[in-house]
Amino acid sequence: TKNFAVLSSGGDAPGMNAAVRAVVLACEREGGQVIGYRYGYNGLLSQSCRNLNAKTVHNLIQQGGTVLHSGRCPEFKSEQSAKTAAANLNEKAIDCLIVIGGDGSFRGAAHLSKYWSGQVIGLPGTIDNDIPGTDATIGYYTAIETAVTSIDKVRDTADAFERLFLVEVMGRHAGFLALKAAIASASDYVILPELFESEDKSLNEIELQLHKHRKDVEHDSFIIVVAENVWPGGLDALSSSLAQRTGSEIRPVILGHVQRGGSPVSQDRILATKLGCEAVQAAYDGDNCIMIGEQKGELVRTPLSEVCDASKPLTASTVKTMKLLLNNRYA
Ligand code: ATP
Repeated sequence: TKNFAVLSSGGDAPGMNAAVRAVVLACEREGGQVIGYRYGYNGLLSQSCRNLNAKTVHNLIQQGGTVLHSGRCPEFKSEQSAKTAAANLNEKAIDCLIVIGGDGSFRGAAHLSKYWSGQVIGLPGTIDNDIPGTDATIGYYTAIETAVTSIDKVRDTADAFERLFLVEVMGRHAGFLALKAAIASASDYVILPELFESEDKSLNEIELQLHKHRKDVEHDSFIIVVAENVWPGGLDALSSSLAQRTGSEIRPVILGHVQRGGSPVSQDRILATKLGCEAVQAAYDGDNCIMIGEQKGELVRTPLSEVCDASKPLTASTVKTMKLLLNNRYA
């Protein structure tokens, strides 16, 4: 049998708890024990941890956030930190550390493995879906749902006053969440980091689209989804440029951290449960320095080195649909 430690690191995401639960139950099935470190790598450095078992993970699958808490830990990049972490893991007789987080967290796991002889396994947990090696990350589906529900509400009020709304959606430097949210909310235009060329080009397209849209549709509410970190100067700059060009009243809305919260939708629970169980299986198979993902319905194990430094393209078929019904509808 093997003893496991688990931690969640970086931005929290709905479904992290479901992953912890799966790891604990799968590990107990094999007769092993699990501890959970608090606040990401911070807990690993300070040996702040608690025992996890079937009782502590009961009723956990539906809870948002992460019961282990998450955290950023800049000092974990140092050699000394990795050595301290290795000593702490050895003191607790841990065979395998499971890290739930984003690419930064996986870089941390790879760094640790240079100084620790145990196994490290990553589970992709972030609402941004910006991790290669898996079609979706844990938390992504719930965040889409939250963004879409919010944009639906924005549309109700936009329709009432015939206004132009800008809605900023999270995603760090990736447009997955913005793209899916824009399609599912029937928004009129979407600005994505992967496709952004220039301010002028976007403004011209929006102006043309708005003009045609107002001819086509009786009411003239118009919703533009904007991925965060794309527009130079942010939503306020875009808002004033558009107001100047169109003479319309613009209302900017930043959805913000609501997108990281909430009870996970079933797709995230199922993904987290499958990946968590597979992580334990991979540990028994002797795998090390890998991330567990799901691609085309199959569980896949990818070396952390391939996950950390690669970028993940938007799904071509989704982009195609977006170009037909959103950005280039009148092209
Ligand atoms: P998200 O993208 O959802 O915010 P993330 O895992 O990418 O998640 P980061 O803040 O980039 O979030 O990284 C989380 C933590 O991982 C850092 O605070 C640090 O403790 C650790 N980490 C990141 N990069 C490295 C590195 N190169 N070496 C060691 N540890 C690292």
